[in-house]
Amino acid sequence: MSTEESRLGLVQLTERTYGYLQKDEGLGWSNAGLIAGKREALLVDTLFDVPLTQKMLDAIASRVGKPIRRVVNTHHNGDHCWGNQLVADAEIIAHRMFREEMMKMTPEVSQAVMSAPPDTPAVALLQKALSPFDFSGIELTPPTLCFDKHLTLYIDDREVELIHVGPAHTSTDVIVFFPDERVLYAGDIIFRLCTPIGWEGTFHHWTLALDRIVELGPEMIVPGHGPLCGPEGATEMREYLQYVYKEARVCFEREMSEKDAARRIDLGPYAEWTEPERIVFNVARAYREFRGEPHDKPVDFFEMANAMAEMRGAHKAREMQ
Ligand SMILES: [Zn+2]
Repeated sequence: MSTEESRLGLVQLTERTYGYLQKDEGLGWSNAGLIAGKREALLVDTLFDVPLTQKMLDAIASRVGKPIRRVVNTHHNGDHCWGNQLVADAEIIAHRMFREEMMKMTPEVSQAVMSAPPDTPAVALLQKALSPFDFSGIELTPPTLCFDKHLTLYIDDREVELIHVGPAHTSTDVIVFFPDERVLYAGDIIFRLCTPIGWEGTFHHWTLALDRIVELGPEMIVPGHGPLCGPEGATEMREYLQYVYKEARVCFEREMSEKDAARRIDLGPYAEWTEPERIVFNVARAYREFRGEPHDKPVDFFEMANAMAEMRGAHKAREMQ
């Protein structure tokens, strides 16, 4: 077993903290975490579907055995909260905008994509990405406790800090820090060795969120996607975002289309990260900012997915030459 594989599933990080790590195989393969005290545990995020979340809860029950009384959802994307119904007896905590945002992208949309004819590159791409998941029987289970900026919880009289850092990856981004053991759960503020994708937010806020993570001084970070890291995970994400933003600006000033810009930007070392074609989303986001548009302007997901599918096709063709 490689080191990487041995760090999948439920992994104990420190005395009271755990990560639940899934191999990054693209869209929806997220990580979660747990802080376990003497009497109870706090879960950070559920997973994309009910069976995957059940598998995680089974591992927690057999290895840790503390009842989960509180759950924090780091943001409203389905891969971080569509298993919430299995912990519905717990207090579910999230940012104030979560309840409204959660209703905008439902499991029914994913099911509709799965049953649509694969007659566009976007649908074919999404069907392939979503096929490992089971979107049946998901009952959206919203938070029962919401906050705006900051909330302090206690586990064994030790602080757990919940900090809203959005709109960065989404409007509802929350990071969870356990200072006693210097472990931080970053949600999708950090994609580790995989290309980030952003929804409602700005490069500026995302950069500030990453700076905040570094300032808190964590030793270990559970990213939203990809393997465990230290603060360098935040630094590398910051560098990626700054690089794409800067390159996109040059393309924007040359009046290049978003699609051409995404294709033309040389990703250098970041081309090795999984799903490099997500740059389509990141360039579109940068252009939105350059045009002075609001950070939550709705994204035409299918158009972007088409562009991503085209780029992926072009990469494959190049590899085969
Ligand atoms: Zn995610």
